Formats: sequence, C-alpha cells, structure tokens
Amino acid sequence: MGARRKRAIGAHVPVGGGLVKTGVAEGDAIGAEVLQIFLGSPRGWALPKVDDEAAERFREECAARKWPVYVHASYLINLASPDSDAVKRSVEHLRAALAASAKVGAAGVVVHAGSSINGDRDAALGRLAATFGSVLEDAPDSPRLLVEPTAGAANAMAWTFESTAEYIDAVGIPEVGLCLDTCHLHAAGEALADRRELNASLKSLDAAIGAGRVGLVHYNDSKDPVGSRRDRHETLGEGVLGDEGLASVAAAPLLKGVPLVSETPTREHDVAHAKELDRT
Ligand SMILES: [Zn+2]
Repeated sequence: MGARRKRAIGAHVPVGGGLVKTGVAEGDAIGAEVLQIFLGSPRGWALPKVDDEAAERFREECAARKWPVYVHASYLINLASPDSDAVKRSVEHLRAALAASAKVGAAGVVVHAGSSINGDRDAALGRLAATFGSVLEDAPDSPRLLVEPTAGAANAMAWTFESTAEYIDAVGIPEVGLCLDTCHLHAAGEALADRRELNASLKSLDAAIGAGRVGLVHYNDSKDPVGSRRDRHETLGEGVLGDEGLASVAAAPLLKGVPLVSETPTREHDVAHAKELDRT
C-alpha cells in the first residue's frame, strides 16, 4: 500500500438515462470519487435545464457519497468570438448552464477557452473581461467557472501554459478558475513527463495569475504526439502521454488535491489506473 490519496478521482459519466439512475449508478460501478456530467447536448444550443426534483435527488446522492460534481458546458460556446451575436448566445447559454449546475450542487462548470476565429488575438483578449463579467453578473451563488484551454487548433485563445496565463489575466476576475486537460496540454506542446519543466511551468502560471486557480484536471491520455494540436483522448496509460506523463501531473505539488476526471469511454479502467498513478 502506498500513501493514502488525498484527492478525488473520477470520470465524466453519462446521465442520459437519468441523473441518479445512470449518473450515480455509473459512478458507483466505476469507483468514482468525483463526477463530471453534461446537462444538455454538448454539441447543441438547447439551453441546459434540469428538473428540480431530479436535481435534488442527484444532489443528495452525491453529497451522501461526498462526490464533488462538475458540469461541462456546451462545446459550441465561444466567449472569444468576434461575432457579437455568437458572444451573446454563448453568454446566455453559459448563464443557463451555471444556473442548472447550481441546482445539482455542482462545484464547478467547465467551459472551453474558445477561439478568436479571425486570428486577431489581441482584440479577442480585449473583449474577455466584459464578456466574462456579463456571464457572472447577478450570479453570486453560481458554481465556480473553470476555463479549459484547448488542444491548440487554429486561432485557439488558450492552449499552452503561457497563452492560458495571458487569457486568464485578460479575464481579470479572481473567481474564475482553470480546468487543465492533460491531453490538450500535451497537444499544445507542453512536456508533461519532464517533472522539472512541468513544475516550473505551473509555478510561472501561479506567478502570472495567482495561486489556486486550477480547480480541476481533465486526466486523459493522448493518441497523438506532443505538439500535434490534435484533441484525441486515449485510455489512460495506453497513449503517447503514457504513465510517465500522467504520473508527473498527479505528482505535481502545485496540483495537490485537485480532482482528476477522465473523459474517455474506458471509465472503469481509467479511474482504477488514475488511482494507481496517484499513489506513485
Ligand atoms: Zn477536457
């Protein structure tokens, strides 16, 4: 037996058959200690909503198991878009996601950092503070908003540690946190397996935006080489990132206690594997 673990490890679970009936049951089946869910189609614009009674039951079941819950907002949201209609729709959608997530007792809501679309990064950075301000306006008890850097496809606003620090600095709201995805960082070209380099990068991130900003880690392996800028998750330990890269992230002192959530179809394997890596 290794040292006792002090962080929650779990997975993104489906809830299509019901929050409790499918979501909690799957969490139990895979040994999860934390859940991530969708509260609506991740590829659609239908506003996320949740039945009050179902939300209450889910909240109680998760609380009884001491599971923190995170909600992933729609992939279509782009808070960095140059198109004001797209931004308006994104803000409305994210506000609805925060409200629905509060009902299920979520600790955080994950939203992708988005894209400038036209490559004008400076203009997009300049709009972020106002846009995030309107997302969080009059929403004092909402779960923590967690920005997730992406794999770095064309015109991505946050992918490397450096571009992410710049993004969060431009948002300028201390309550806004980060969700780091190991597959995305690897795709962005970050050498996660190099423990010295990883810890130095995390230290610079803290120095730039303040400590304690990382609220969640998406713990995925990658099918593609470092720097590929491709977002293809792989079963933990079976990808290019591998156990070395994954264990390095789990061991990073600046990520101590931050929950790890895998986002692959191989949930049961990944939760067990992550628990093992977290002990090494
Ligand atoms: Zn992710």
